[in-house]
Amino acid sequence: MTKYASISDFQNAEPELVELRRHLHAHPELSHQEKKTAQLVAAKLEGWGYEVTPNIGGHGVVGRMRVGNGNRSIAIRADMDALPITEAAKHEYASTIDGVMHACGHDGHTTMLLGAAEYLARTRNFSGTLNLIFQPAEESGIGSGAVAMIADGLFDRFPCDAIFGMHNHPGAPEGTILMRSGPLMAAADTVTITVHGKGGHAARPHLCIDPVVVGSSIVMALQTIISRSVDSTETAVITVGTFNGGTATNIIAESATLTLSVRTFSDQVRALIKERIYKVVETQAASWGATASIEYDSGHPVVFNSPEETEFATVVARELTGEGNVPECPLIPGSEDFSHFLQHKPGCFIRLGNGESSAPLHNPAYDFGDKSLTTGAAFWARLTERFLAQE
Ligand code: ZN
Repeated sequence: MTKYASISDFQNAEPELVELRRHLHAHPELSHQEKKTAQLVAAKLEGWGYEVTPNIGGHGVVGRMRVGNGNRSIAIRADMDALPITEAAKHEYASTIDGVMHACGHDGHTTMLLGAAEYLARTRNFSGTLNLIFQPAEESGIGSGAVAMIADGLFDRFPCDAIFGMHNHPGAPEGTILMRSGPLMAAADTVTITVHGKGGHAARPHLCIDPVVVGSSIVMALQTIISRSVDSTETAVITVGTFNGGTATNIIAESATLTLSVRTFSDQVRALIKERIYKVVETQAASWGATASIEYDSGHPVVFNSPEETEFATVVARELTGEGNVPECPLIPGSEDFSHFLQHKPGCFIRLGNGESSAPLHNPAYDFGDKSLTTGAAFWARLTERFLAQE
């Protein structure tokens, strides 16, 4: 019987993985600036015998390895960028770059995939094509790294049958692997509403159309979309993040501006909410004799895990860590640009416990848990061996 990779196979590599993760942590690079990280990744992959293609969709790197004559192919993605946050911690591997830190654990994601890359190149216990995707600019919102890599021909140049990705998950114990089939993370759209009223003296509101009052009624009416229009078995969020209007107490403003974040977990609810926002805003404004212009920016789509690939990844996770360590992942209202890959290929986005006492993602006190490195690397290695199993 074929033996597949286990966590203990990575025990010897652990000190090196910790050192690498801490090196990346100390030298973070912002989205679109991941030059040195990409160079480090490319050099390591080349050294292990991968066919390396740099500069895909910016600083993206793909390492490809073909073993045997299997015709299946797998893609695994890790993200590389850091965030514009000043690190709070003072440990010896704290960020050396002012105002920049790995506050989302992408240092850990890159390290785990490199750990698997080294192991798989050395053991070559698979038959088929392995594509390792090191993605830049995950944090950059619209026009992010996944979109840029796809636009640069990623899937034409490196065809694959399925794609997998992983993110650490603060709050879940280290050593656990969280799985969810279907929708996992939200689509995140941004809306800018400008209410056009009629300005004038604060003492004579009857001669004006007050955009602050119109905007206020829009804020309240928007909240009824979730409670009255969305199916009660579905979930969504509409947050009015900013509301700006007016300059002084004795002036009624000409206009007011609201910006919204809209989070949804299905294409149907996403479309419904968009339609309702237009209707609610336009009719609320009209009822006051005002007008409103709306700018609707579609952000990342829903992270949708395909059932077959999720089932497969769940089996691999259970084999690796035991049944009790693979809980179902709750729905996550955050968004991820991995969702764009999943619009082109079936696949699964996996969440890896980062400890119950871990600081939240994007927090100045956050740190990736080094104990997870061997679990993550072993998972990628075993997933590859099982996906590209030799006949
Ligand atoms: Zn992240």
